[in-house]
Amino acid sequence: MHYRTLGRTGLNVSEIGLGTEYLVKMPREHVADVIHEAIARGINYFDLIWPHPDIRDNMGAAFKGYRDQVFLTAHLGATSKDRQYKKTRVLAANETFFYDALERYQTEYVDVLILHNCDSQSDFDKMFREKGPLGLALRLKKEGKARFIGFSGHTVDTALQAVESELIDVLMFPINMTGNAILGKKDLLKTCMARGVGVVAMKPYGGGKLLQGPRTVRVARYQTGGEAFKINKTVPITPVQCLAYTLSQVGVCVAIPGCADVAQLNAALAYETATDEEKDFSEIITEFDQYIAGECVYCNHCLPCPSNIDIGETIRLLEMAQQEMTAQVRAAYMALSTNASDCIQCGACEQRCPFGVQVMTKMQEAAGLFI
Ligand code: SF4
Ligand code: SF4
Repeated sequence: MHYRTLGRTGLNVSEIGLGTEYLVKMPREHVADVIHEAIARGINYFDLIWPHPDIRDNMGAAFKGYRDQVFLTAHLGATSKDRQYKKTRVLAANETFFYDALERYQTEYVDVLILHNCDSQSDFDKMFREKGPLGLALRLKKEGKARFIGFSGHTVDTALQAVESELIDVLMFPINMTGNAILGKKDLLKTCMARGVGVVAMKPYGGGKLLQGPRTVRVARYQTGGEAFKINKTVPITPVQCLAYTLSQVGVCVAIPGCADVAQLNAALAYETATDEEKDFSEIITEFDQYIAGECVYCNHCLPCPSNIDIGETIRLLEMAQQEMTAQVRAAYMALSTNASDCIQCGACEQRCPFGVQVMTKMQEAAGLFI
């Protein structure tokens, strides 16, 4: 494993870290196996985003005895309600979920406290106030509960404002091949370098889309860091090529691929011993042709749903079925406790979806397809 300095934090982070979103519904033993293998292979940066108690307890159990070997994050603004993810800027909820994280991770502090998922100017204005989440983060830092403050977002505008504020130490931003042409992205990364802000590159696989195919793949704005994009893939793209692109970008200190199991972890770690030929992504870049909008990335930022529909999973299964309806896809859909036919077309999700997805239409399509 190679290590890089995370900007002015001075933390010596592994260039490959771990995003833990795909460990969410896994049993505790499985989570521990992946985390322990990652640590054994030299990974020391772990992004812990999800607020649900069982996930947090599983992480706490997995890191027990390893706390001094790892850097852990918490996200200020990611909360849960009725077991569904909910982004909020309500200070009391932010504080409650932060202390819940400390307790469940069995730690006195987190290394990086991330101001979570801020893309619009109005949201930024709510967040970056002395009496808002920023003020809370600064207080927690002063109290020693958080060593450094980070910011996560998917648009250059808000990320740049956060970096230029001089109040954050770490920027978490999507960096992958699909966003190569995003206007302002390279300047953003250069600004991070100039100001000593460490860059944590999320979505190195474009939310998994880069690994699909070869065929035409649509990648959402959320995954590119700016605009939705369509790639006419003619050759398979490997995790090693994705990581080679991400880790080659100016200012990037650590890439955090999401790995659901040890096999996926190994696929990412193959980067560390790959040849230059295996890492070569130069031809792939030329295959990206245009930006598009309205793609679901299965992130569930549109929850809560009054019908308790797992919207991201429902759309994911719909899109898989639209490619090919297999018995496995049908069974996974049927196993959902509520599904698209429970949608009451209230539209609340569309208000919250940052990516312009027409969820109600998708629910109608799913209800029609899975009959
Ligand atoms: S509809 Fe939007 S918010 Fe909901 S899962 Fe899809 S991309 Fe995410
Ligand atoms: S429109 Fe349907 S899927 Fe969206 S929040 Fe309302 S009930 Fe849930």
